[in-house]
Amino acid sequence: MIPALMPTYNRADLAFERGEGAWLWTTDGRRYLDFGAGIATSSIGHGHPHLTRTIAEQAAKVMHVSNLYRVPQAEQLAARHVAASFADSVFFCNSGAEANEGMVKAVRKYHAENGSPDRFGVICFEGAFHGRTLGMLSATGNEKYLAGFGPAVQGFTHVPFGNMNAVRDAITPGIGGIMIEPVQGEGGVRPADLRFLQELRAVCDEYGLLLALDEVQTGMGRSGKLWAHQWAGIEPDVMSAAKGIGGGFPLGAVMAKEKVAKHLKPGTHGTTYGGGPLACAAGNAVLDVILADGFLAQVDGIARKLWHGFLALQAANPDIIEDVRGAGLLLGLKLRPEFSNGDAQTAAVAEGLLTVAAGMNVLRVAPPLIIGEAEVDTALEMLERMCRRLRPSQAQAAAK
Ligand SMILES: *Cc1c(COP(=O)(O)O)cnc(C)c1O
Repeated sequence: MIPALMPTYNRADLAFERGEGAWLWTTDGRRYLDFGAGIATSSIGHGHPHLTRTIAEQAAKVMHVSNLYRVPQAEQLAARHVAASFADSVFFCNSGAEANEGMVKAVRKYHAENGSPDRFGVICFEGAFHGRTLGMLSATGNEKYLAGFGPAVQGFTHVPFGNMNAVRDAITPGIGGIMIEPVQGEGGVRPADLRFLQELRAVCDEYGLLLALDEVQTGMGRSGKLWAHQWAGIEPDVMSAAKGIGGGFPLGAVMAKEKVAKHLKPGTHGTTYGGGPLACAAGNAVLDVILADGFLAQVDGIARKLWHGFLALQAANPDIIEDVRGAGLLLGLKLRPEFSNGDAQTAAVAEGLLTVAAGMNVLRVAPPLIIGEAEVDTALEMLERMCRRLRPSQAQAAAK
């Protein structure tokens, strides 16, 4: 019989009842070090007192009023994001896919309002992940995810990640923008070269295209800067955010330059829940933590420690780990083909460490941004033991 909870996920047999910082406890009392952070989402850790208190207090005051009224928490959060970023204006929604939908609509609307309604095409990249709505499945372009869901939404062209010649070849009169993750998360923790991002910015300027960045996974401090594109010294025209910006409370955002945002007039785009008092109170609390003096420098420092630890782990286990990749606290261990990232994930769980699988046989590590040195050391020890766990099964298989 089908489970009451629709079986769209292969779930690990773990149920968590409580969390504190980077640690989670199961209902039967076992403790895990959470280096997955609910897929790069619990940005300031579990049970952060400032976030939980803010949410509890706001919930008791007023949770939802709709966008028929002013929402001071949203006005404040938008103003703070504008002050801290390239953006002039922010639209709040509830998820990454919804933010990306809004972003692509903004790109299309910009050209339509500028007299080119046929310029609705967006260049996307092989290995991308932009979400699970019909539109974002098409932007993602992964045949596996699209299969069985009828015709793809028109207007998305895919080219190899990092290939500037292919990008140039794909620019036709119908193209209005380029959409990219600064680090492909689901696709295998693959960072774009900073040079490539700079070249995309230049080609967008050359052809009048909009540069649309999907920073749903890379944003909100995960890279060691507030937004990952800052490492490249460029600014997008429009950007999506979600995951970490609510610290675990559902919150998404489309952030845009004025020239883009000004066309999203009343009635052009909307959401019932988006930008509500509760989600925006949570967003403000997360921002309080991440914008506090020294916080991002601390993330950058701890990320470098983890990176060096991973390089040492690879050096000690070259038979298992093929590559270390990523940026900031979004890192991946690419495993040799003899080992699967699923088996590695299971072995890590057996050692008490939560990670997330990603494409290209990569074990993804995306801890809460609040981790300290002790947690990095503990995770590295657990990963070393994970490698040992993976190895004997190989030896046994060879002996058979
Ligand atoms: C997770 C993710 C999305 C989708 O976000 P949802 O909140 O699951 O809709 C989109 N883009 C990127 C880069 C992501 O990592």
